[in-house]
Amino acid sequence: MFAATLNRPLATTITGSLPRPEWFTLNLAGRSMSSALLGDYQFHEQYIDAVASCISDQRRAGLDIMTDGDMRFDRDIGGRAWFGYIFDRVEGLSLGALRSLPFGGSPRELQPGDIFHEIMVTRLPPTVTGPVSAGSLEYDIAWKTAQGLAEQPVKFGACSAQVVDMLVINEHYRDRQETIMALSQAVNGEYHKLADAGCPIVQVEEPCFHFVEEIDWEIPPEVYVEAFNLEVAGLRDKTEVWCHTCWGNPFAQNLGYGARYKPVLPYLDQLEVDVVTFEMKFNNFAELTEVAAAIGKDKKIAIGVVSHRTLQVETPEEIAESVRQALKLIEPERLILSTDCGFGRQGISRKHAFYKMVALVQGVNIVRRELGLTPAVIPVEAKNLAYL
Ligand SMILES: [Zn+2]
Repeated sequence: MFAATLNRPLATTITGSLPRPEWFTLNLAGRSMSSALLGDYQFHEQYIDAVASCISDQRRAGLDIMTDGDMRFDRDIGGRAWFGYIFDRVEGLSLGALRSLPFGGSPRELQPGDIFHEIMVTRLPPTVTGPVSAGSLEYDIAWKTAQGLAEQPVKFGACSAQVVDMLVINEHYRDRQETIMALSQAVNGEYHKLADAGCPIVQVEEPCFHFVEEIDWEIPPEVYVEAFNLEVAGLRDKTEVWCHTCWGNPFAQNLGYGARYKPVLPYLDQLEVDVVTFEMKFNNFAELTEVAAAIGKDKKIAIGVVSHRTLQVETPEEIAESVRQALKLIEPERLILSTDCGFGRQGISRKHAFYKMVALVQGVNIVRRELGLTPAVIPVEAKNLAYL
């Protein structure tokens, strides 16, 4: 159901992650959120201050919907924690192991000297050795920490179960379909804990089925849709549910294959979600017409108007023009403006992320004024207070 974006035309947000502050040096390193926050004073202080920094930057930029910047993730290589946070906590998985991994179904052979080689060898995926359950994911603790620091609604996003299945080696279930369903069922309960705690938006990120184009996948897209809908089952009765589609983000890299939405849009429209996000800026809005036509009116569409892959900060006018183009195809009450993907994963700096967020809201404000909507307050613009 629509909650945080209800009666909020042209809502603004970011995908999720923000660059980790340099001074945030401690890691969870396999610990649960509760044990680290309650038992390690230095981690407790650094983590809460880091989340507060993320909230502060988003508030100064004037965003409508915020995130905790994915501060639960360790300082690792190429964003391993995106998967690793789950690898290290879900019951039924072995410790991570060094082994070569297929590159997400791509026929491309990875060799040393290729950035994707480094990404894949540092993933350290586990093996499924027994029945899986949510273990110590404790998403609700991470969300509560952030929401307690913010006046605005805080969206909580997490890596989908089907991406986890893509990387683990299964030695317990009959086949991968059974593994995907078990993992999806396991995390569904975690999302319900979030919704029950009051989380206004639960975002499930990076499902696999939009990668099916031109790839010989073992799992058909229909099964991926069924698994996704199992992962979010019952959630729309309690809160707003988003699906973030993604072309990859380790070291801010596009994974470089099958980056086309058009063949899988009918599947995306079958998801039991309220909002679907689409990377648009980096690909110069190439498939916006097809996306707008394919996604049903019961859903909102969030488009990226800012790129996480480029250092040049978009201008407010450039963003405003993107919003105007989108409004020719999508009603303002169904249009959400965001980033293509997260700013984290060892891509751009905090400064780049901050000014991109400010530009996003400044650009949307231009269009809000044109439409007679109330522009957002952007605290960093306050001339009597600003010193930078
Ligand atoms: Zn993404």
